[in-house]
Amino acid sequence: MNIIDLRSDTVTKPTPEMRAAMAHAEVGDDVYGEDPNVNRLQETAADMLGKAAGLFIPSGTMGNLIAVMVHCQRGDEAIMGDKGHTFSFEAGGISALGGVFPHTLPNQADGTLKLDEILGAVRPDDVHHPISKLVILENTQNRCGGVILSKEYTEEVGKIAHHHGMMLHIDGARIFNAAVGLKIKVKELVKSADSVTFCLSKGLCAPVGSVLCGSREFIGNARRIRKMLGGGMRQAGILAAAGLVALDSMVDRLADDHKRASDLANGLAKMEGIHFEMGMPQTNMIFPSLGSNIRLNAAELVKKLSAEGVKVSAVAERRLRLVTHAWVDDASVEQTLQAFVKVLK
Ligand SMILES: *Cc1c(COP(=O)(O)O)cnc(C)c1O
Repeated sequence: MNIIDLRSDTVTKPTPEMRAAMAHAEVGDDVYGEDPNVNRLQETAADMLGKAAGLFIPSGTMGNLIAVMVHCQRGDEAIMGDKGHTFSFEAGGISALGGVFPHTLPNQADGTLKLDEILGAVRPDDVHHPISKLVILENTQNRCGGVILSKEYTEEVGKIAHHHGMMLHIDGARIFNAAVGLKIKVKELVKSADSVTFCLSKGLCAPVGSVLCGSREFIGNARRIRKMLGGGMRQAGILAAAGLVALDSMVDRLADDHKRASDLANGLAKMEGIHFEMGMPQTNMIFPSLGSNIRLNAAELVKKLSAEGVKVSAVAERRLRLVTHAWVDDASVEQTLQAFVKVLK
């Protein structure tokens, strides 16, 4: 059976062009700064993001941790969304390893944190309080529906952060999806951020890795923390070579994933009992909710769909998540809709 895996865009595999680039990659020891492909990847990424420097890292989780540890000292406070990856899905690393105190604010349905709530979270200068050092935004915001934060909103948050002596970090695991969705250059979108991470291993299809970007001084400090965390890799150019192909050839095509997410959502919305409480997709993620007239819950539906060759995630008792990516073509969208019709009968 032809399996369609819509659980996440992390399931994407390297393209033939990536495998060829990996096989032939010239390498060196990156801890010595001598791997030509890693250096090229870091320069290319920094250039695309409009930052002075970049650092190749094993995962987005490590990228966020490094950024927090560079921006904050132990006991400092970082303001972030309660539906954000850093608060929810990074095993508490910023506290366990960085000694940093999270100050969560509710993510609104559109993925934003309210500006007045950010202002209200800034601590006065008083020995009773931790020092407010950092604001973290996530773009696209995954748990709010893969929604896009605008350039204008990001700039407003940057202004507040900088006015109060804080830094702005963007967890841009899917920042290219956001930029493609907005039809603007990614460097425009992240202009006001002091640091940004993005994942090569999601919609961009590279097998492993993320890049953290920021000022030269920031990246110098980040390099030391990466080593401390055990993330200094040696002949990492094998991986960076795939990342370079990803940045060169996999960014613009994200628009196809967004179109297919929209096709899938439109098809599902026509089915009895399926609705979109979280809104229709803005990028490559769709979150259909199951009405009370559907007798199966999300976990049961996942099993039935899997038997039809369609893998999706259950994210709540009555909500699914489907993510489109380069391995999902128009025929897969059609086959997925047919599988839903069959299991909902
Ligand atoms: C995937 C993801 C990350 C990083 O994940 P890794 O699996 O560690 O690379 C960070 N933030 C968001 C929003 C993500 O979706």
